[in-house]
Parts: sequence; structure tokens; C-alpha cells
Amino acid sequence: MKVYEKAPAKINLLLDVLHKRDDGYHEVEMIMTMVDLADRLEMEELSRDTIIISSQAGYIPLDEKNLAFQAAKLIKDRYDVRKGVYIHLDKKIPVAAGLAGGSSDAAATLRGLNRLWGLGIPLDELSRLGAELGSDVPYCVTGGTAIARGRGELLEPIGNPPQCWVILAKPPINVSTADVYGRFRASQLSEHPSTAAMVSAIERGSFTYMCAGLGNVLESVTMKLYPEVEQLKESMQKLGAEGVLMSGSGPTVFGLVSKEAKVARIYNGLRGFCKEVYVVRMLT
Ligand code: ATP
Repeated sequence: MKVYEKAPAKINLLLDVLHKRDDGYHEVEMIMTMVDLADRLEMEELSRDTIIISSQAGYIPLDEKNLAFQAAKLIKDRYDVRKGVYIHLDKKIPVAAGLAGGSSDAAATLRGLNRLWGLGIPLDELSRLGAELGSDVPYCVTGGTAIARGRGELLEPIGNPPQCWVILAKPPINVSTADVYGRFRASQLSEHPSTAAMVSAIERGSFTYMCAGLGNVLESVTMKLYPEVEQLKESMQKLGAEGVLMSGSGPTVFGLVSKEAKVARIYNGLRGFCKEVYVVRMLT
């Protein structure tokens, strides 16, 4: 038997870090939504009790370091499943890009194996299980648009943002999320983005206020390490994107565009110097 699951990329419309906790994690407040750039997972039951991962992408680990492997192992162990699974990852989301590709694969594995093995685990329980794999996994299990608090696992679903075009551009650098958080100092922040303002913009369906409310406190850390991220942001703004922000810990920058007529110009302008550019829609 086989099941298929889509694992969409997420973007952060807002990312705030409140403080570092005693357990070493950072207390965050984020607003996340998903876009229609997605990995596709194929999961096939094996009678032999083993987990096998394959992918066309040569640049990700295929052993127990792969988050899909870890998700499969976790659900097998916790629910005492004595069967195996072959998981093929058709990767489309750029890796180490701030788009939660690995976390979304892990979440899709949990959802897919829940179906494949008829485990009947409720989605909120699956989301809690995901927290054991990584801070973004609980959100990726449920998807939609949500405020994430705690270390990312405390989720409050909100309405979908106003529909628009999203242009994603990833410079050719890989950013380590742990490194960026490690360098972040909350005490050096002069201002925090407003979650309340972004929620209100979304509730009112205001594209203009949504663009105005975008904010990510990790931008300054990543931009100091990689000035090309700041240059990319400026280019996207100059080309006409109405709201521009780095996603997660970067280096992907996204631009929000309300008019289709502008999209080709921005895409072509960026492609002049950035190889990885995607035009997508929000998953609403
Ligand atoms: P986040 O936004 O959650 O920080 P990211 O988009 O920055 O995530 P990922 O694409 O999830 O980063 O990759 C981070 C690391 O995880 C990479 O070094 C990669 O080798 C490893 N990894 C493990 N499993 C996967 C997977 N299924 N897909 C992609 N990367 C994976």
C-alpha cells in the first residue's frame, strides 16, 4: 500500500524573539503561513521492519539524520508499529533556506504514516509528537496560518492572509538556524514587530497593512553575516514588491505583490543575479 503527502514551504510574516529561556531555547512569537512550493512524499509499506529514505536531491542526508526518517522512527516507536516503510522525497523546497523544508517533510511523514498504518492519531496529538522533532514541525503538521509561541509549538490558528503573489528568492548560501539564533541578542533590539498589528491586518484582509506589518528580528543577524541578503531585499523593493522580508533565519527573501502585471518584471529582474527564484501563491 502507498500514500502520498504534500509538504509545503512556510514563510514567516512575522518573527519576534522575546528572550532566551533557561532551557536554551528562545521564546518566540511568529506568524506563519504556507505557500504552494512543496516537496512531495511517497510512502510505501514494507513488510520488513526498516525505514528506507530516497530522494532525487543529492544534497540532503538519507540516513537517520533526515527529518523524515526521524519522524517515521518516532511514530513507529511510540505506537509500536512493527512494519517498515520506504519513503521517497521529491524535493522542491530549497534546503537550509528558512522555508522549513525539513520540518515540513517530517510533518508530512507523520500525517502520511498515520494514514498508511491506520493509527487514527488526532491532528493535535500528531502536532504534539512533532514538537519532539523540531520547533517548526508542530506548525507544519497542522498548516494554515497561525501564531506560534513558546519555542514554536504553541499554536493559535488565525484566518488566512489576503491572497497575493509571493516571490521567493534564495541566494546561493546555506544558513544554519542554530548559528543565527546563537548570535541573536534580544537586548540589542530597539523595537519589536507587532503581532497584534499583523493579526489585525490579516483579519481586515488589508494587503497594505500586512505589507507594512512584516517584521523579522533575525534579519539583522543574518544580514551582518551575509550582506547579499540585504542587497537582495533592496533589489526586490526597487523592482516593485510591496512588502519584502527575510523568512525564518534566512537566507530566502520573499516579496509580496498584489498585481499580477508586476510579477514578471520582478521575477526577471531578480533572475539577473539570483539563480533560485520562485513565483508562488499563499496556500489559502
Ligand atoms: P527552518 O526554516 O525550519 O530553520 P530550513 O528551511 O532553514 O528550516 P531545512 O531545509 O529544513 O532548513 O534544512 C536544515 C538542515 O536539515 C539541512 O542541513 C539538511 O541537511 C537537514 N535535513 C534533514 N532532513 C531533511 C529533509 N528531509 N529535507 C531537507 N533538509 C533536511
